[in-house]
Amino acid sequence: MMKLIENFPLKEATTMHLDVKCRYLAEYSTIDELLQILDSPTYRQCRSMHIGGGSNLVFTRDYDGMLLHSCIRFISVVDESDTEVIIEAGAGIKWDEFVKYCISHNYYGAENLSGIPGEVGASAVQNIGSYGVEACGIIERVNCIDKPTGKPAHFDNQECRYAYRDSIFKNEYSNRYIVTSVEYRLSKTPVFTLTYGPLKGLADQPGLSMTDIRNTIIDTRNGKLPNPDETGSVGSFFKNPVILRQQFETLKQSYPAMPHYPAADGRVKVPAGWLIENAGLKGFAIGGALVYPKQCLVIANGGTATPDDVVALYKHVTTVIEEKYGITLQPEANII
Ligand SMILES: Cc1cc2nc3c(=O)[nH]c(=O)nc-3n(C[C@H](O)[C@H](O)[C@H](O)COP(=O)(O)OP(=O)(O)OC[C@H]3O[C@@H](n4cnc5c(N)ncnc54)[C@H](O)[C@@H]3O)c2cc1C
Repeated sequence: MMKLIENFPLKEATTMHLDVKCRYLAEYSTIDELLQILDSPTYRQCRSMHIGGGSNLVFTRDYDGMLLHSCIRFISVVDESDTEVIIEAGAGIKWDEFVKYCISHNYYGAENLSGIPGEVGASAVQNIGSYGVEACGIIERVNCIDKPTGKPAHFDNQECRYAYRDSIFKNEYSNRYIVTSVEYRLSKTPVFTLTYGPLKGLADQPGLSMTDIRNTIIDTRNGKLPNPDETGSVGSFFKNPVILRQQFETLKQSYPAMPHYPAADGRVKVPAGWLIENAGLKGFAIGGALVYPKQCLVIANGGTATPDDVVALYKHVTTVIEEKYGITLQPEANII
């Protein structure tokens, strides 16, 4: 069912829970309905962007335009062999519902991405990742509608140019393509990625199942990340910076405990949460916005945060980190 709502409050439609609204929210359940919206005078007269579950969006003021939201919700098998299956999911399916579907059907590959908020459409835009796995490792094809022409467009994995929390849809095609569904390639035989943190301990567990992995991940996530229903946040506010090895070696002399991981091209990835905590910013607050004490990578809404509080805190953290380490933090969140 198509819906057009005027002056729609975004407090509950975004996980940061800021008191902002949009001029119009347009929801659709089919591609035909989406095309009707794209053809409507209201759409043509204002600026627009697509949203999913609002779990990576920070609106710094009211959005004077149309937010589009997909309610295309289906999951189906497109193709399968003895060893693999291609599953197509509508953009409006909740991501974790998709993960649960895969686990319940014994399709391997999505389980490490358990518990990530948001919807299927955004998984392909954001290249979501956690516990050593990224969505680009299982995405086969992204099906879209080209906003300016209303024509269908399809992108295979290579064409999406995936990188750490990045894709073509966040760069040259930003705000151009609307993801209507995503096809994922999953394995019918067990292939586990247990290289990361608490999953390492599961490697020797006899009869290890995807549910064991999911439960471990959900428990760990619950212990360090705010529950979006209770405390506003967008998860990691900042990306983990990737720096030149030479810069890392210099920093290591001043900060021998600095954790680090190998990255592409001989560079080094440093956890932004550690940099922030080590800079003494754990729990630091401006107005109602604070550096979340259990995970300093997160900027949380303590309940009364205004968009200005969040922006001021984000800028303060960025400045402190730049001054202390010479590293420029980049937001992982979409700041609008
Ligand atoms: C508590 C918490 C924990 C989190 N943990 C993780 C984590 O472990 N790993 C991780 O990667 N992320 C994490 N996130 C961030 C967030 O869940 C992901 O970025 C997620 O993919 C956002 O999905 P969404 O549907 O809410 O998209 P939104 O936030 O609504 O939108 C995100 C981007 O996708 C675009 N978009 C959304 N849907 C479409 C569509 N159909 N077509 C075209 N563009 C679209 C939007 O324009 C925007 O650019 C976390 C967030 C929270 C609040």
